[in-house]
Amino acid sequence: MSGRLHRRLRCCLLGVLTVLAMQLLIVVLVVRFGLIDELISHRLLLQQQQLNLHQLEWREFITHTPDQPHALHQYNRQLSDNLAAVRLLPTTRHHSCNRRRYRLPQASQAKLSVVICFHNEARSMLLRTILTLISRTPEEYLHELIVIDDGSEDAGLLASLERHMTAANAQRGRPTLIFRRNLGRKGLIWSRNEGARLASGHYLLFLDSHCEVNDGWLEPLLERLALNSRVAVSPVLDPIEPETLSYMTGNALLKGGFDWSLHFHWLPRVLAEKEALAQPYASPAFAGGILMISRESFHKLHGFNPHLEIWGGESIELAIKLWLCGGQIEIVPCSRIGHIFRPAHAFEFPLQFEQEQKQKQEKELEQELDGEQLDSAQATYLRNSKIIAESWLDEYKYLFYALKPSARQIPLNLRPVSQPSYDPAQIKAELKCRPFDWLMRHVSPELRLHHANLSALGSLRNADRCLHVAGTEPQLQLQLASCHGLQVTQWHLHQESGQLSTSEQGLCLAVDAAAKQPQLSLEPCRAGQGRQHWLRRNTQLQHAGTHLCLDNPLKDQLLLSHCRPHAVSQSFQFALEMEA
Ligand code: UDP
Ligand code: MN
Repeated sequence: MSGRLHRRLRCCLLGVLTVLAMQLLIVVLVVRFGLIDELISHRLLLQQQQLNLHQLEWREFITHTPDQPHALHQYNRQLSDNLAAVRLLPTTRHHSCNRRRYRLPQASQAKLSVVICFHNEARSMLLRTILTLISRTPEEYLHELIVIDDGSEDAGLLASLERHMTAANAQRGRPTLIFRRNLGRKGLIWSRNEGARLASGHYLLFLDSHCEVNDGWLEPLLERLALNSRVAVSPVLDPIEPETLSYMTGNALLKGGFDWSLHFHWLPRVLAEKEALAQPYASPAFAGGILMISRESFHKLHGFNPHLEIWGGESIELAIKLWLCGGQIEIVPCSRIGHIFRPAHAFEFPLQFEQEQKQKQEKELEQELDGEQLDSAQATYLRNSKIIAESWLDEYKYLFYALKPSARQIPLNLRPVSQPSYDPAQIKAELKCRPFDWLMRHVSPELRLHHANLSALGSLRNADRCLHVAGTEPQLQLQLASCHGLQVTQWHLHQESGQLSTSEQGLCLAVDAAAKQPQLSLEPCRAGQGRQHWLRRNTQLQHAGTHLCLDNPLKDQLLLSHCRPHAVSQSFQFALEMEA
């Protein structure tokens, strides 16, 4: 009898222990692998389902979308129309971000103004951007929403949006809604400045009109801004695939940067020892154009340069200005915002100059570029970049011109703008900004390294012909082409390795010294390759292994021949020689 009791007790005890062990295992799994995020997400799903129902009220707004071709938006508009207004998104940030408690300022001290400008955005996409923002931003912080229609063709869109949103907002009373429509196209840069001018919150967030903020996007950004008022921040951008609109995980191992031609690039960052992946990190430039900054610092910096037109370069300029004039930029990986990276511009670039002057300049430019057309997007971008180079790059602007020789021909024609005080020299004096050199040393070592390791760069010219790589891989051709072409190949002559590489594809000019008749070829650059080693003899380029010189004896015939001092056909000049 007692034996049976004993056995029963043992059984019970074993059962209890098993249950306890299982529970412990579940707790460990939940905490360790972020399953808790999933549980939280399900709770959010309930919240969001209400919003989906709510979406019914918006049907009229969306179905009014005219039948626009896919190319107009550069993403799948039909699919966008059929997705929920607010979607459940995957958790893309590191699980530690969900457990952290963020040190937040009081809401009354941290009012946020969100500025969204759009030109020809699909209705459903714009709506999703706005509704997702409202549903995933703590109400107490979201002070106002400023929506600016930059002369979209769908003239009724803004009014319709305003009507719906005002009705939906009637009970809550917030955020404050401000709607503006530019009668003519003013461009993103003008419109964002206008949004900032209208704003009254402590912080500004500039958001594109095809974004979805992810859960908890605001707190990590706000924490950094509240800790240091001189910092401006970007989230990690999670790419939304343009065709399928699937929400992907952005890369927290990238920072924003730019090269000497003032093009934006993602740059790899190296994690310091013990640096957690979720920790905020300094970045030379913002993640794309999506950034948050205190309104006061934005205005102190005089906002985006109002001389820049339509689209392009403005956030790079703001980044340079910020770093040089006492600020910093951080990317905060615990904050995630989805953005559709479109494969091409979804809009025209109207040239801003007076019509007559514009035609005259286009003609001159075309002659200068040897008949090659510079389209208005390229012209606008190049002009904006030239303004930035002239404003901030100091003596290094010559590097910019070496890589973008056609920028010299672009007339600046700085029109009077509504901010007559916008003068970089004055801003530099006012804010005691550092020289550009400082940025190279402390913020963007990539630029410095690049600069220090090169002995010459830019187009490589013999008389009026330039060494050019035509075609696409694997069918690349080395040839001599007009130097005026917009896309003429840019070369880098590396100081130590003596390699002569193309700046775009990273290919090196090589010669097989063992061959009977040494031939020129292009191949991937590899360190320590004698076949890729070139020596500079005045303006001659001599191959180290064969001692032969690059030659253009008959027009457009590129070959190797014995070096003859003073031979004009062997004289090759780079756009820019670096000082030794
Ligand atoms: N945009 C605008 N006016 C313009 C060009 C663009 O208002 O003249 C808007 C556009 O609708 C988008 C934002 O500015 O919301 C950024 O443009 P885009 O998304 O094309 O830039 P990207 O993301 O490619 O940098
Ligand atoms: Mn965009």
